[in-house]
Amino acid sequence: MRPHLVFWISAAVRMTIILAMSAVAAYFFGVVTGLALALISMIVLIVVQLQYLLNLSDWLDNPNSARLPDGWGAWTEIFSRLYKLRRGDEKNQSELAEWLARFRQAMTLLPDGLVIMDDVMFLEWCNPIAEHHLGLDLSRDKGMRVTNLVRAPEFIDYIILGRYDTPLTLSLRDRKLIVHVIPFENRRQILVTHDITESERIDMMRRDFIANASHELRTPLTVINGFLEIAAMQPDMEVSIRSSHVKLMIEQGERMQRLVEDMLTLSRLESTEFKVRAEHIDMHLMLRHICQEAQALSAGKHQISLDFDGPDIHGSSDEIRSAISNLVTNAVRYTPEHGEIKVIWKNTPQGPKCVVQDNGIGISQEHISRLTERFYRVDKSRSRETQGTGLGLAIVKHVLIRHDAQLLIESTVNVGSKFCVQFPQRAVVLPS
Ligand code: ADP
Repeated sequence: MRPHLVFWISAAVRMTIILAMSAVAAYFFGVVTGLALALISMIVLIVVQLQYLLNLSDWLDNPNSARLPDGWGAWTEIFSRLYKLRRGDEKNQSELAEWLARFRQAMTLLPDGLVIMDDVMFLEWCNPIAEHHLGLDLSRDKGMRVTNLVRAPEFIDYIILGRYDTPLTLSLRDRKLIVHVIPFENRRQILVTHDITESERIDMMRRDFIANASHELRTPLTVINGFLEIAAMQPDMEVSIRSSHVKLMIEQGERMQRLVEDMLTLSRLESTEFKVRAEHIDMHLMLRHICQEAQALSAGKHQISLDFDGPDIHGSSDEIRSAISNLVTNAVRYTPEHGEIKVIWKNTPQGPKCVVQDNGIGISQEHISRLTERFYRVDKSRSRETQGTGLGLAIVKHVLIRHDAQLLIESTVNVGSKFCVQFPQRAVVLPS
């Protein structure tokens, strides 16, 4: 039934009852009594209505559906409709709160920073990534002007000038960020920050690598081209000169081949597609072979010894051989004649350890942390003289990363160097 109709019917019923009672009283006890009864009934009715209004006003001060008063007559309908409205409102509110919590969580998981600013650039909200990127603290900085919080001049200019068509590249707190402002409703602005530090670093490394590799390959190519031009211009060159040129060209060709092979090894080691093959490595056999190869390279000019007292390990035999062989070969190449090279294999509480120690030219401290960078050499000419590609220790580093092992370098100029490879305990092959 329509609510208005209910209201009018219940009011009419009440008035009819009062009038009927008053008429009966007037009939039996006189007109004055009837009128008095009608007046008193009307007053009671008004007081009751006022009481309901008072209850309603109390409830509106603190609208909680559990405290909604009961009613009578038309009030029953009013209170039940208010109850439904309130319940619907509470449901909407809890849905909204749930949705907001989910939205906040999603915002915290975003890889980019988000800042919401009002029409005058005051901070309204930001996610934790934006706090990290821009050095903000929402609980402390909320309601403050963003240009007072991020004090980089190019950022302030970008925000104040409002030329948001192109994003801003900003260097801030040792990070490189792309900052983008997107205007949205009520002249508010969303500021998005995207961290490109890592991708920039990788790009730079790639550019450096290509530049270095091209440079390394250009030198032998120039030498070979030079000799070929001479040969073309002097067809009747003396045989001894020609054969010495050919020998030099072969050397340069071999140098290019070593470089390309090392670059391919590095790129294979870096590729996540190539998983480490966990073979049982016979360490004694492997280290003996490596020392024999080192003897051949040294041609008897060094004293090379192997001190073996450790377990076999699991890992990629080719990769571990190449890493340790690189260290031993370096020891031979950077140790003058009559020098001493020791290869030690032992077990330690942390796990098996390989030490390659020499009493050669040594390395000064400032170079040590950079030795595993590609093409990093302390002495370029010595490295080339001894057929170095500058990639040996970079290969060692990548092999060790793939085997959860660590490289420790200790060295003193003119005293010697010690390269230690620490394998984890779990690499040990347990006796079956
Ligand atoms: P390279 O092919 O030039 O030897 P590596 O990556 O193997 O390249 O080594 C990087 C640099 O580290 C070398 O150029 C050399 O200066 C230095 N180095 C490596 N091993 C030794 C060593 N045992 N003694 C002295 N210097 C070394």
